[in-house]
Amino acid sequence: GQIWLDGTWLPWREAKVHVLTHTLHYGCGVFEGLRAYRTERGTAVFRLRDHTDRLFRSAHIMKMSIPFDKDALDRAQLEAVARNNLESAYIRPMCFLGAEGMGLHAHGLAVHVMVAAWQWGSYLGAENMARGIRVRTSSYARNHVNSVMCKAKANGNYLNSILAVQEAIEAGCDEALLLDHEGYVAEGSGENIFIVRRGRLYTPDLTSALEGITRETVFTLAREHGLEVVEKRITRDEVYVADEAFFTGTAAEVTPIREVDGRVIGEGVRGPITEKLQTLYFDYVHGRRAD
Ligand code: PLP
Repeated sequence: GQIWLDGTWLPWREAKVHVLTHTLHYGCGVFEGLRAYRTERGTAVFRLRDHTDRLFRSAHIMKMSIPFDKDALDRAQLEAVARNNLESAYIRPMCFLGAEGMGLHAHGLAVHVMVAAWQWGSYLGAENMARGIRVRTSSYARNHVNSVMCKAKANGNYLNSILAVQEAIEAGCDEALLLDHEGYVAEGSGENIFIVRRGRLYTPDLTSALEGITRETVFTLAREHGLEVVEKRITRDEVYVADEAFFTGTAAEVTPIREVDGRVIGEGVRGPITEKLQTLYFDYVHGRRAD
């Protein structure tokens, strides 16, 4: 395969960085995750410009000046799919700081940009898309508010996510749920969370969760189908007594949750509203949306 690095297409093996790359040491970088789906009109990247916009917003927060414009980044992402002959794909753009200097004073370092794409199936397991996953609340908090801001999809924001996933997997679960610094439900390690109660959808507001593009897509689909969506603070016991729960994310798509911290959610199977939204989501990303 081929990877785009600073404007040049390189064979996969040659897309390398120096060991003194600043971001490798201190984690100051920003990235995105997108998916391309096969549609009737060929392969299409889902909400490409929205992801590129968020990449630029993340970079702005981290004071990184991306040396390409949005059109160039969009083209590179589309071409990463086409050049690698992918029909459906996960796409990863990332901006990182160069190896010209060490220390925390990152001013003046070059901002490098890469785009890679690869074939990727269901992030949390194909059978889990129907059966639902088992989730564990993490002892690591989502620490967006006081440290790195939650509007940035920044490398440094993922340290707690990585530890949280490890903890969940070691406990025999599939994914982690992170609470915010006050103990309210924030989000999954790389997903937003929704619960369903008495036919209404609830999701945490954006004080400690990333402004997920899938989250917003689900808002639109739910409202178009007469479902009310409420953004509010959610406690972990509200999740335990929910009728249904699910995660949303570019990687996770719409993944049902069947158990949290050893408590069965609803009937312990994918709920009807989750299933409906899953179908609507997959229809939408595959270009089968009835307008
Ligand atoms: N929350 C976090 C921490 C994420 O990393 C992601 C993934 O991008 C999401 C939520 C879901 O966002 P999106 O739906 O834009 O992929």
